[in-house]
This record gives sequence, C-alpha cells and structure tokens, in this order.
Amino acid sequence: GLRAVGGGVGAGGVGNTSAQAAFASQIGAAGYVGTPQFLLALLERGREDGIPATLRRALVSGAPLPLDLRRLLEEGHGVSVFQAYGTADAGAIGYECDAKDGWHVAPGIVVEVLDPGTREPCKPGEPGEVVVTIANPVYPLVRFGTGDLSTFRPDGCDCGRTSPRLAGFLGRTGEGVKVRGMFVHPRQLAEALKGAPGVRRYQGSVTEKDHRDVLVVAIEARGDRQPDLDELAARLRETTRLRVDVRTVEPATIPEDAPPIVDLRERSPG
Ligand SMILES: [Zn+2]
Repeated sequence: GLRAVGGGVGAGGVGNTSAQAAFASQIGAAGYVGTPQFLLALLERGREDGIPATLRRALVSGAPLPLDLRRLLEEGHGVSVFQAYGTADAGAIGYECDAKDGWHVAPGIVVEVLDPGTREPCKPGEPGEVVVTIANPVYPLVRFGTGDLSTFRPDGCDCGRTSPRLAGFLGRTGEGVKVRGMFVHPRQLAEALKGAPGVRRYQGSVTEKDHRDVLVVAIEARGDRQPDLDELAARLRETTRLRVDVRTVEPATIPEDAPPIVDLRERSPG
C-alpha cells in the first residue's frame, strides 16, 4: 500500500528500539505505520540517544490510542497521528481523515452496529457491536462480530466525505450490561463521571424492582466537596440514554478496584 503511493518502506518490529530509531532517522523516514505504543518508544529512545527526529506523520492501529498518548505523540513529539481501525480477520475497517473525529468506513466493506443482545441494528448514537461483512472471494466474512463497541455518528464530517463514520472505540462487548433493553457500558459511566466535580469514586449497579431494571450509580464524594447529583444524573442520562438514580455513599464504601458496573439482578435458573 505504501509503495503504491510512492513511498519507500523500512520494515521493523518491536525490539532493538535504538537501532530502529537510528535507522529511521538516517533514511529520513517521515512516516510510521504501527502501534502507537511502539511509536512512542521509538520517539523517546531517539530523543534519549540524541538522534534527529524525522517522523512527521503516523498511521497507528492494533492497540487503543488513549487521548493522553495521542497528545504526547502530537504535541510532545510533533507527529501528526491518524488512527486506523481493523481486526486480524477483517483487515482495515475504518480510518481517520484530517478532521480526526471518528473512523470513516473503509471502501468495500459493510459495517453495521448491532445491539449485542437482540442483534438488531442500533440507531446512530447508540452503542453496539461492530459487525462487518466483506465480500472477499478468498476470505469472505458475513456479519462477523468484532466484539468491539462503537456507534455511528449521526452528523456529517467536516472533511466532506459522506461515508458512514464510527465514533471510535467504546469498549468490548463483554464488559457491558443490558438495562431496560439498552446496553450500558462502563465507558458511558466514565464519560459522564470521570473528573466530574466532587466525584472521587463511583459504581453503577443494576437491580430489579417490580420487574423493571433500575440503574443506580453510587458516588463517593471527594473530600468536603459535595457533588451536584442532579447535574450528574443529567450527564449520565446523556451518555446512557437512561434515567439513572444517583446517590452519594459514605467515604471508603466503594473499593478502589471495584468493577464500574455490577449486575445484581436475580437470574432465573438456566
Ligand atoms: Zn472525515
């Protein structure tokens, strides 16, 4: 692919970071393709070894790209990072454009976002499992479940491309629970509550009352600052699309390693 657009390719792999950083610099490599973690290792080693930095752009995949890592690469090392999304089976599924705001679906691939429970398509904005269909005669995939959660962006992209766009990686399917028919993932709680004023720890729990699922989020307050529960409930409603019962609990009630959501509903046998 890179040679097709006129690039020269120096193949490398994880390990012997110093030599690879030196080699990339000597040949004046401007681009990198690989995991973001190894890119950071290369850049940091190069800096330690006093090697002139030449990398300017990177296409990263194969591992999550947390926001702080992206900032470090872009602002700390001056490398413009583009994310590609794919799996070993499906190959490339989506890619970032210059807007860097979600993954455009790659050409020649049908991507659906399905409710992990009902297998019905989710509406744009609702998270579900990324399921792909590829009409490759050699290695066809029909509704192949990636196990990754994402959602289609309901809005258009600034770049002008009209292809559907996934809103990035929202977690793995196994980590969520279904509440009143809606899939709730730890990331949705984190999005609403991480760094919210007055919130030290939180934990969601799903119970059942009168045959109705109830999602309660317990909040441990930070120090003497009381969180605004109405505000938090509104934020949670925004991210989960559910009415959430928010309560404060005594300090040190929620263990540090507590799971972000627990399912306390009684299951009928079988
Ligand atoms: Zn775009």
